[in-house]
Amino acid sequence: MEKQQLLNTLKEYFGYDSFRPLQEKIIRSIFDGKDNLVIMPTGGGKSICYQLPAILLPKLTIVISPLIALMKDQVDGLKANGIEAEFLNSSQDAADQESIFQKIDKNELKLLYIAPESLQILDRFLTEENISLIAIDEAHCISSWGHDFRPAYTQLGYLKKRFSNIPIVALTATADKATRHDICQQLNIPEAKKHISSFDRKNLSLEVRQGIKRFEQIIKFIKNRPDESGIIYCLSRKNTEELAEKLQQKGLDAKAYHAGLKHEERESIQDDFINDKTEIICATVAFGMGIDKSNIRWVVHYNMPKNLEGYYQEIGRAGRDGLPSDTLLFHSYADVVQLQRFAENTKNKDIQVAKLDRMKQYAEALTCRRKILLSYFGEIKQEDCGNCDICKNPPQFFDGTVAAQKALSCIYRLKGKEPLTTVVDVLRGSQNEQTLSKNYNRLKTYGIGQDISWNNWQQYILQLINLGYAEIAFHQGNALKLTKHAKDVLFEGKKVHLAKVPDRKLQTAAANNTSEKIAAENSLFEKLRQLRLAIAREEEIPAYLIFNDATLKEMERSRPMTDDDFMLINGVGRKKMEEYGYRFIKEIIAFSKQKRTRKKQKKGKTYKITGELYAEGKTLEEIAKERELSEITIMSHLLKLYDEGQNIDLKQFIGKVDLEAVKKAKKELGDPDKLKPYFEHFEEAIPYNDIKIALKIIENED
Ligand code: ADP
Ligand code: ZN
Repeated sequence: MEKQQLLNTLKEYFGYDSFRPLQEKIIRSIFDGKDNLVIMPTGGGKSICYQLPAILLPKLTIVISPLIALMKDQVDGLKANGIEAEFLNSSQDAADQESIFQKIDKNELKLLYIAPESLQILDRFLTEENISLIAIDEAHCISSWGHDFRPAYTQLGYLKKRFSNIPIVALTATADKATRHDICQQLNIPEAKKHISSFDRKNLSLEVRQGIKRFEQIIKFIKNRPDESGIIYCLSRKNTEELAEKLQQKGLDAKAYHAGLKHEERESIQDDFINDKTEIICATVAFGMGIDKSNIRWVVHYNMPKNLEGYYQEIGRAGRDGLPSDTLLFHSYADVVQLQRFAENTKNKDIQVAKLDRMKQYAEALTCRRKILLSYFGEIKQEDCGNCDICKNPPQFFDGTVAAQKALSCIYRLKGKEPLTTVVDVLRGSQNEQTLSKNYNRLKTYGIGQDISWNNWQQYILQLINLGYAEIAFHQGNALKLTKHAKDVLFEGKKVHLAKVPDRKLQTAAANNTSEKIAAENSLFEKLRQLRLAIAREEEIPAYLIFNDATLKEMERSRPMTDDDFMLINGVGRKKMEEYGYRFIKEIIAFSKQKRTRKKQKKGKTYKITGELYAEGKTLEEIAKERELSEITIMSHLLKLYDEGQNIDLKQFIGKVDLEAVKKAKKELGDPDKLKPYFEHFEEAIPYNDIKIALKIIENED
């Protein structure tokens, strides 16, 4: 197979200009007639590995997939790309099935999707003569080692026996070795070529924060990301509902999703999310497996997951289109204790506890998190990633020997019988019932740590545990005990370096958030997104099947206005250009025209133009720059517009303290009608312009 032919097919049918790592190698191996096992992370691009060969191979490709709900979307997606595809399942009526059988007979189909349970319906139609390739998606379902075992998959071993000359390609995102081996054994393809791609998803940022004031933190996090889709994973059904409701009360577009909802309800929530009608889903881990939405921009874990496999799969649902996406994990001591209890009560307790330990190490890491994560999946990286919170904001260490000595001797005095919270209470000399009733206020260590906050003590002690000086006895009421290394610190003067607890000032999003939102609403990207949604509704297919966000972003950047230019966009194939090109190009031209007219008008009513730019979400600075006017002039325009009733948020231009000062001065000075008295009152510390703004705000408030 010529390279050019593969590339042409990729562009023609899928719209992409180049292969992702491994795709071409896998495709070539399929053309060589070999069996293949493909291990790629979610979003890595597995589908093209069998869809592209299917187009070029002479006969039918059978695709076995466990998720009936997803099959229809995949088939719709293929059809939208001009590829002959169908799916077969037991819910179809006889006539539908019959028409598919006929297509197989006439060799009119390129791909046929089917669930393993339904394979028998096909049995008498399939021969080595009429099929070219068998693809088995989510192949880990065959293995009871894996996490989604499906009994119906275990019968798939007969395929190789019956069609021994037909290549099989098995695909999965599950990395562990035992499962990989098991897949090949059970499918009778022990010689399969293994293609294992990197699990590094560079576009996902990684961040872990302490689980305090989670709700406030989440609100700020979301407000910094207007109009973006995201998932918040919670531990229980009840949590999902409560959180969704609280978010709704804050005016956010959030829904709860869990296995306890009725089937139709779940479907409609999923559909709305896929079509960008609902922005935020608060879900249990049940959510995600069956959805293929490429523009999920963020994933938050409200609670810590039980292991890194689950965590990685869940954050992996973000950013499948390759655009930058953010992930945030909340880490709390209480969660760890609860998870530990769960783990200890499972059948294979040792494994579960060990896995939880790795999860904890990740959450409490003081070095690059991605390195830790990837090493868990057997990938060793030399370089720090630069896209995790530790890399962006490396912890600062200090000599924490004295603090360590205080904490360890307090644990010693409490005889290894009390949990972390009590240790901290005693250190801080807390007067609560617990400490007093047990006479802990008579201990030597009582109150020796008042200079350190409660939360910081907790963090330092967790670090001491990670450093091996103390341990938690989970089966003894989580009591803290010293390890044998503690004496090095207590008696032999060993130095301890502790990491400072980051002072995470909650980012102040609110002020500039409104302007960001307006900016987003007026962008070409947003216009294109609206158009995509309209088309999706007309055709009753999910929006992402038309073009994904990465493709719309590229249209926004390069503004194609002819068919040829449009075809150059990554993600635009022949069929979609013919089907949708006209409408998208029209939208792009209209948008550009509107911009130009405004540029021409610019010399006219000057303050009105400032108003338009402001409404688009531009900042004072940006407007001044674009209009080549001073910021003072632009400010005077905004004040005028404010007087005329345009919605202008003046508070963003002045600090709270200054505003209060002007308020006070107004009373003290007897409400002068000139600015100068104020200016002199403040000894020129507050500029004229700010005084003016403050007075406008005060006037309006009155
Ligand atoms: P997986 O099945 O491995 O989770 P998909 O096959 O759904 O991943 O692909 C994920 C996303 O990447 C899809 O939006 C797909 O269109 C896109 N994609 C796949 N291959 C390429 C490529 N060569 N160039 C650009 N985008 C690609
Ligand atoms: Zn890093």
